[in-house]
Amino acid sequence: MIVVLKHGTPDDKRDQLIEWIRKQGLDVHMSVGKNQTILGMVGDTRSIDKDLIACLDIVDSVKTVTDPFKLCNRKFHPAPSVINVGDVKIGGGNFVMIAGPCSVESEEQIVQVARSVKASGATMLRGGAFKPRTSPYDFQGLKADGLELLKIARAETGLPIVSEVMGIEELPLFEDIDMIQIGARNMQNFNLLREVGRTRKPVLLKRGLSNTLKELLMSAEYIMSGGNEQVVLCERGIRTFSDYTRNTLDLAAVPMLHKLTHLPVIVDPSHSTGIADLVSPMAVAAAACGADGLIIEVHNDPMHALCDGAQSLKPEDYAEVAKKVFAVRSIMNPEVAE
Ligand code: PEP
Ligand code: MN
Repeated sequence: MIVVLKHGTPDDKRDQLIEWIRKQGLDVHMSVGKNQTILGMVGDTRSIDKDLIACLDIVDSVKTVTDPFKLCNRKFHPAPSVINVGDVKIGGGNFVMIAGPCSVESEEQIVQVARSVKASGATMLRGGAFKPRTSPYDFQGLKADGLELLKIARAETGLPIVSEVMGIEELPLFEDIDMIQIGARNMQNFNLLREVGRTRKPVLLKRGLSNTLKELLMSAEYIMSGGNEQVVLCERGIRTFSDYTRNTLDLAAVPMLHKLTHLPVIVDPSHSTGIADLVSPMAVAAAACGADGLIIEVHNDPMHALCDGAQSLKPEDYAEVAKKVFAVRSIMNPEVAE
């Protein structure tokens, strides 16, 4: 952080500010120019309130030269992180194929879908048990029973499981779930992020409906600052003025996040489009722009799904999408051809 002092600032006032900055545990590098004096703060400035300094009467402007996110910042960790979920690796050239229904509905449904997506090349199973629905009258998920059914599907197929947690009080139920999903609506539920940061479970952090990339990274920072560094980011579409799709898939977020962070970035073509027919082209595009994986909704009977049927693929359609995605992957990374 750099503080530019106003022209003519008296030395005693300048020294008071320097003293205050030092008391915050930082060193100060002072550069006295002809017209301006600049104070450079050296050290970890994360807890310094920039606005507080900016409103001092001797301060002309304050500039941050370092990103507010540190632990997930690529500058301090140039190699891509690889997150392990059971035997599955995500990031650093390892591509994850997560598939499954929006909601777990029954043992028959989840086991059937798990078997079929595995046969098509999926490496992880998804399934919502706690569902964040816009309407309180819609199906809210099978909750704890849903998590138990996911475990049955894992036992049947060997696929690690990921499911969404909506509140801190539910976390103990996730003890035996391989990866915890923080959904778009909870991306800035800071208390939940902190609590998940205290666990040592891999986290799938989805981008909020109207959140910037910096906000997404700051949310990852919440989790990581609790000591849990196993975070995978997910671009799942944002709210814009698109009228024919549920959301707008911000694919540029993938290469941009790869510049900014070492964390893996996966794409959700289901929630970002809301339309089953659009999942295949967007999945292929996501693989082509360097995503570290895909999370796709698949249902054995989309017409009767209790949630998100319109965007859910039938198992046979998922098989086709997976083939195309693997083909794109092998063109892009011939050395790691699937
Ligand atoms: C989901 O994955 O089922 C879900 C609700 O996703 P999002 O939080 O991205 O809307
Ligand atoms: Mn869904």
